[in-house]
Amino acid sequence: MSQITFTDRVVAITGAGRGLGREHALDLARRGAAVVVNDLGGTGAGSGSSTSAADEVVAEIRAAGGRAVANYDSVSTRAGGRAVTECAMDSFGRLDAVVNNAGFLRNKVFEDLEDAELDDIVDVHLKAAFYVTQPAYRVMQSQGYGRIVFTSSASGAFGSPEQTNYGAAKAGLLGLTNCLAWEGHRHGVLVNAVLPTAAGTRLTKEMSQEWFDEMVGPLPLDTGILAPAQDPSYVTPLVVYLASEQNTATRGFYSATGGRFAKVVTAVTHGWFGPLERPATAEEIAGHFTEIESDEQGYYLPQSVIDESRPVLAHRLQQPGPASVGA
Ligand code: NAD
Repeated sequence: MSQITFTDRVVAITGAGRGLGREHALDLARRGAAVVVNDLGGTGAGSGSSTSAADEVVAEIRAAGGRAVANYDSVSTRAGGRAVTECAMDSFGRLDAVVNNAGFLRNKVFEDLEDAELDDIVDVHLKAAFYVTQPAYRVMQSQGYGRIVFTSSASGAFGSPEQTNYGAAKAGLLGLTNCLAWEGHRHGVLVNAVLPTAAGTRLTKEMSQEWFDEMVGPLPLDTGILAPAQDPSYVTPLVVYLASEQNTATRGFYSATGGRFAKVVTAVTHGWFGPLERPATAEEIAGHFTEIESDEQGYYLPQSVIDESRPVLAHRLQQPGPASVGA
């Protein structure tokens, strides 16, 4: 297995002053990357600012002989996002990979969610991904090389209570990954998303015990066994690989939880075919809902919007559909 190194590579990581981002920054620097350590340094709920979080990580990297520079801008603004790329270009002259990681929580039941809690969460998780990545992408496009990693969440892919704002923003990142990957691959820019789990970060401390009990309650085992593998360092290897030159995958969503790494896929059932000569009725939908919902033949995994329609066309032309994948 060849060593994964980042010699002469420049990587920017947002929210790298604490938690997962800090761990990513330290490992990337150890592997030779020059690192832009972005962090606003605010409170756990996303208010205020401080230079200390980013400064401490930069000092740690430099003390170990690595190269790093701090950036304190909020990625929630267009100007702040642009400043991350400007910092990389001014300090190191290029930008090879971006890890979009900054964020915080504002958990609340849906009926009580206020505009500020919706806006702040969409800004820091979803819009920031555009603000940070667009300037970086333009640089990568001109270089003909780039790696982009978005930090999504199981909350967006699978759902969790009291996180409609957060889950919607994180699911938005999956859409961004899907679409940008299609544009980026022509320019050597690969785009993927990670769905991490790491206990003990400030963000996870924002989760209420009530919420946690609701989530882990039904598990038929002692969740304490996973504790060591809940450290942020158990997520970092996946992010480092996806940010590296060795990675050739794009448009992927990858889960890192409890030391298990797995691909998350969006599957489509083979479904029920209504009549072609007229629209199906709502009653027919009700009558065939079981076939629509699940399919004993398995599912298929479209790679694009066109791909999703391919089996429909094949069926209508009386040709065989795609091979089944999964169960
Ligand atoms: P954390 O709170 O430890 O670290 C997040 C960092 O982002 C903080 O240092 C904070 O100052 C910084 N930040 C917040 N707003 C910012 C802004 N506007 N601009 C720049 N920096 C900002 O949290 P974490 O657990 O390490 O989470 C990192 C990412 O992983 C987040 O996007 C989070 O949603 C995601 N995530 C975490 C988990 C988990 O289990 N920890 C699960 C799923 C997704």
